Amino acid sequence: MVRDSLNENLPNHVLPWQLVQWRRLSSQISDKTLPHAFLFTGVEGVGKELFAKSVAAYLLCEASKNNSRDTDFGNDTAFNHGACGQCKQCKLFEGDTHPDFKFIEPEEGSSVIKIDQVRLLVDFFSRSSQQGGQKIALLSPAEALNNNAANALLKTLEEPSEDSVIILVSHQSGMLLPTIRSRCQVVDFGLPSVSDSLTWLNANTMGLLGEKGLKEDDISDILLLANSAPLKALNYLEKGVLSEYRLMLEELSSFLKNDSLSSTLASRWNDDIADLRVSWVMLWLEQIIKLKLGGELSAAHSSNKMFLYLAEKATELELFNLYESCLKQYRLFLGTSNPNKILAFEAILHSWLSLMRKS
Ligand SMILES: [Zn+2]
Repeated sequence: MVRDSLNENLPNHVLPWQLVQWRRLSSQISDKTLPHAFLFTGVEGVGKELFAKSVAAYLLCEASKNNSRDTDFGNDTAFNHGACGQCKQCKLFEGDTHPDFKFIEPEEGSSVIKIDQVRLLVDFFSRSSQQGGQKIALLSPAEALNNNAANALLKTLEEPSEDSVIILVSHQSGMLLPTIRSRCQVVDFGLPSVSDSLTWLNANTMGLLGEKGLKEDDISDILLLANSAPLKALNYLEKGVLSEYRLMLEELSSFLKNDSLSSTLASRWNDDIADLRVSWVMLWLEQIIKLKLGGELSAAHSSNKMFLYLAEKATELELFNLYESCLKQYRLFLGTSNPNKILAFEAILHSWLSLMRKS
């Protein structure tokens, strides 16, 4: 394994499973073939944005300009270490005040990147660099660009200004305009292996879950919820999402045994993770459908008994119908139409009940 010997040379923010991408960037810098526009793709929570920030920090850092940028990874080169963290440029970058770096994301409370934000970006690239180096912009996630904003961005991608680099980060690059994709160099970020995820999660969650780190059950649950993306899993653990997930599963189970009222539960679930909750319901339906089709459940959980029971009781059609209506709700929850979430949860609960009550 080459990787272990190289890990210690990786900059702080480059994750162990991003070595290939870091290496390619390194060659491009030393060959002076760095493109003006990158599109970083991969599932949410795999570490693309962190990587993009490490690249931006390095390109702005003074040390990067004084270095030969040797790409031999056996050597102790500046790029292997990333930005120096000491120079004026690094201090500006770390303090979020670097005038030649722009980070564009949806404004608070919004899920879209608006045209006004892209206009600011166009203006940023039209001005000359204030610190005498490159101008770097990071836009995340690119699928949040609405149509007008995406079209406004196209011009910048078609006619890039001198000494500028724009990095688009996308969790769902299939949703982007093909014209945007085609003007960027695409760098794909795959998921780490399960064992790399576990090692990283264990190292980063010590303080959260006590000295022993994560238990086997915690790990299988949290990685399931986070689609195996380690940074998303860590974020969920920090927010207490895992315990909410388990509580909701228990609540659903008690509801099905007639121990609680649908309106009480529906009101409680109408919180700031309501969209996640609907995705969990879909996840449970997926498990039941999997059982129904002859599959097996991956881990031994107390909920498996309920899933097995429902797989016996419900028909495939009922399960798919409920899944489809949850998917509709999920999209509504994420949209801008402000749906009545309590009513939606009540409807979902009553559909679960009808799966059970069929004779
Ligand atoms: Zn520096």
